[in-house]
Parts: sequence; structure tokens; C-alpha cells
Amino acid sequence: MRRHVSKNLRAAVAIRADYRCEYCRMPEFAALIKFHVEHIISIKHGGKSTLDNLAYACPICNSNKGTDVGTVLEKEETFVRFFNPRKHSWSDHFYLKKGRIQSKSPIGLATIKILDFNKPERILERRELIAAGAY
Ligand SMILES: [Zn+2]
Repeated sequence: MRRHVSKNLRAAVAIRADYRCEYCRMPEFAALIKFHVEHIISIKHGGKSTLDNLAYACPICNSNKGTDVGTVLEKEETFVRFFNPRKHSWSDHFYLKKGRIQSKSPIGLATIKILDFNKPERILERRELIAAGAY
């Protein structure tokens, strides 16, 4: 089990993500806390510390995601994987409406639900960044 992510690998992940959370798209400069390099498939579920399994994530998304890889949606009663920034295109699964991140797919819905994209304070922060042209 390789949990360690080298300094160079961290830098590569951050640059590839353009210093934005790859889930909620928050820019790191607007946050008070440094962003995390997270395992898309957690170590617990067999994920590796390799570039193709790592994503740049804000502390809120990373903490809400934890070691989860998906969730069960009530409507479908089936397990749905989270959005995978290495395999999926953000705009195929999400869109923005007045600062809220809306889903275009079950993957989008599962990710919004567990990562809690639309908590009121997150929407307000997003709206301010949109107004400032920084989101
Ligand atoms: Zn985020």
C-alpha cells in the first residue's frame, strides 16, 4: 500500500488541475486552506498513488468524499460512482445555475449529494467568485 505522494507528484497534480478543485472547481487562491491531493479511488479500495488516480481537491470536497467511491441514489436504488476527473468531463455531468452546481447525470447527482456542493455558504462563495470573474 503506497499512501505517500511525493512533492513532485503533488506539484504535477496541482498544475494539471490549474490549482482548482477538480470536483467543485473552486480556485485555490480563493481559499484559506491549501488544497489536497486526493485519491480518486481510495487506498482502502485498492487505489494507487499514481498520477492517473490523483486529483486536486478543496478540503471540503476531499473531507466529504473521504474514502467513498460512490453512493446509492434513492430513486434508482443502485450504486452510482462519483465523478472521476481522470475519466469524465465536468461539463458532461454538471452545469452551473446561479451559483448552484446542477447535475446532468446520475454520476453528477451522486457527487453533488455526497460532496455537498450546494451547501448555502458554498453557493454564496461561488456567486461572489463568479461576480468577480474568478470562477
Ligand atoms: Zn471542491
